[in-house]
Amino acid sequence: MSSELEKKICQKHKLKIKTVDLKQSTVDEDKYLCIKCLIEKIDIQNMAMVEETKALIKQMKSEQQCNKIKENQRRMYNCQIFAEYFA
Ligand SMILES: [Zn+2]
Repeated sequence: MSSELEKKICQKHKLKIKTVDLKQSTVDEDKYLCIKCLIEKIDIQNMAMVEETKALIKQMKSEQQCNKIKENQRRMYNCQIFAEYFA
């Protein structure tokens, strides 16, 4: 049974089933939960998957890097103007 369960895929998120709701009252199609189903069950707004968070951090870092480059370019440009002015 466990191997069959491992093959199960959440229809909503297309992810592997990680949890089974054992409550008798839970209808069959809501019984099998992937990690995202679980997150939705807990609190959709305050939860994020580690991978998603990592991607977000990466994105933020690269944006910071972009800003740094822009800042450097601006500085270089200012220096150039300065140099031309005093030439
Ligand atoms: Zn799911």
